[in-house]
Amino acid sequence: MEDYEKMLDRARAALPEKTQAFERFETPVIESFQQGSKTIIRNFDAILQKIRRDPAILAKYFSKELAVPATMEGNKLVLNGKFYDRNLKDKLQAFVDAAVVCKECKRPDTKIIEREGIKTMVCEACGARSPIKF
Ligand SMILES: [Zn+2]
Repeated sequence: MEDYEKMLDRARAALPEKTQAFERFETPVIESFQQGSKTIIRNFDAILQKIRRDPAILAKYFSKELAVPATMEGNKLVLNGKFYDRNLKDKLQAFVDAAVVCKECKRPDTKIIEREGIKTMVCEACGARSPIKF
């Protein structure tokens, strides 16, 4: 049994440092409020910085998923409808799963390339590719 433990220690020590330091990507928290019949995501720019995605892609995604017009106003995103943080959180999580975090290695070191109208997420860490459906 002790030998097995030693073997495990050796295996752990042999792992590259990058793998050991890796932590699961945390989806940014949405801060929103309602104003009349609109919902405003006040930290839209901070979310974009964290997930490193083009503002237009995320704005279009929210607009399509929530079936309302979405417009960027400065650092904010204005949605033409009433939504709650938890609705928006679920949508953002789905976006992160589909278009930010690599499906193979679970790292967020990805980028989106678009060719002939087809978007593909390419992982810069492991090279995996996955098509994006929106
Ligand atoms: Zn990867």
